[in-house]
Amino acid sequence: MESYKKQLLDLRDELLAGQKAGQDRTKTVELDQTSVGRLSRMEAIQAQAVALESRRRQQLKLQQIKAALQRIETGDFGICPRCQEEIDSRRLDFDPTAPLCIACAQALEK
Ligand SMILES: [Zn+2]
Repeated sequence: MESYKKQLLDLRDELLAGQKAGQDRTKTVELDQTSVGRLSRMEAIQAQAVALESRRRQQLKLQQIKAALQRIETGDFGICPRCQEEIDSRRLDFDPTAPLCIACAQALEK
């Protein structure tokens, strides 16, 4: 359990660091677009959309990490809330933010 917690905290720090770097990148794009032509402005807008999308994904991941950390605190970590079965530890090793067991995650995807 402690190792999952550490893994989650590391993951969170990594994401937060990446988010900061991403913000700096978008800033650079904005500065560039004032000094160049229309085509590069479109490129800049595109790059910004990509940056926004990746930020949205990071935000989502961050929420999942927070939720997982909360489940550790409440003792619900590793238990699937849908079927109340234990989540396979191999699944958690691969992705400690996984909220559901494999069977339920697959059932929801369909
Ligand atoms: Zn389940």
